[in-house]
Amino acid sequence: MAGIDIEGLATVYPNGVRAVDGLDLHVADGEFFALLGPSGCGKTTLLRTIAGLESATEGKVRIDAVDVTRTEPGKRGVAMVFQDYALFPHMSVSENITYPLKVRRVSAATRAETAERTAGELSLDGLLERKPAQLSGGQQQRVALARAIASRGKVLLLDEPLSNLDARLRLEARTFLKKLQRDLGITTVFVTHDQAEALALADRIAVMEAGKLRQLGSPREVFARPANTFVANFIGSTPMNLLPGTVSSTSGSETYVDEVGVVSVAGGSLSAATFSAPAGAEVTVGVRPEYLTLASGDVTGPALRGQVVVAENLGTQSLVSVDCDGTLIGVTVPEENEPEPGTTVVLTAPASRVLLYDRESGDLLA
Ligand code: ATP
Repeated sequence: MAGIDIEGLATVYPNGVRAVDGLDLHVADGEFFALLGPSGCGKTTLLRTIAGLESATEGKVRIDAVDVTRTEPGKRGVAMVFQDYALFPHMSVSENITYPLKVRRVSAATRAETAERTAGELSLDGLLERKPAQLSGGQQQRVALARAIASRGKVLLLDEPLSNLDARLRLEARTFLKKLQRDLGITTVFVTHDQAEALALADRIAVMEAGKLRQLGSPREVFARPANTFVANFIGSTPMNLLPGTVSSTSGSETYVDEVGVVSVAGGSLSAATFSAPAGAEVTVGVRPEYLTLASGDVTGPALRGQVVVAENLGTQSLVSVDCDGTLIGVTVPEENEPEPGTTVVLTAPASRVLLYDRESGDLLA
């Protein structure tokens, strides 16, 4: 078992693209760590640089405290699972799983025993003699995982491990992968562009944009307190409301921190806590639809008023779009409380859930 340390890492392709652009991060021993970001942000390049399949242009990669920046891939102690699984079609499941051991000249008896044991761990019992083409997508994915685990690497690197599976299998495989990682306790870094997958699986998430780290935190932190409007936009199955606003009161002082103030936005005003901005400052106000509630009865404090435009069914919840002075604001409500289109509604949010971002830089005013 081992941690991974990345220091000042840059990976520049021969065409000049800085796919990884000055990154520092630490993955703890045994951690399940997600690299998340939109297509082209550099997450696969970062994973491949950790594996040694791309060479670092600047900076260092350490695995288990050993500098492996210039070490060849086979000697880094990493096992990687590729998006397309890269199974050998002419080999049986058993031969696929134990191929890395064969390369290392491990005895046939030990290989057979490893294949049996790993197949058991990965729910592949009874399939050891089949060829990859005779397996379902989910089973092929588990063979690729089994091969990585059987190679006894110190760290497991997974490139979009679930993306080739259909929606239902993907959910099953997610649960399977999470349990497997926890049972084995192996340090695992996985790449995904699917924020729901990262939130569901990872202990911590690195959100990347254009080769740079935009936020590093637990799923709860990146969901509840995105560090900037980029992360706010990217995380969450319903987009965060990001509204132009003006700080209207800061409880008397010119600037203040850790107190509740009021910010005016389309349709009224909201209370916000923990920000530093003077009265009159033009900001972007971020509030998730999940944290807004439809107020019943009279509201005395800050609130937004508007008319219901449309409601979308999300299963047990509905996402209601409310027109507040021409700006659409989303709020999720339990399905049974879904208001009729045209109804005038009042929205409130706890001050702790209303975030203020710098209008120019998009950074959280924390
Ligand atoms: P995706 O989710 O689409 O796989 P990603 O976040 O994994 O994207 P990368 O594949 O790491 O992103 O690519 C990062 C940047 O580097 C992109 O601009 C891409 O076009 C560029 N890039 C990737 N591979 C190469 C290469 N071999 N040569 C030159 N540029 C490359």
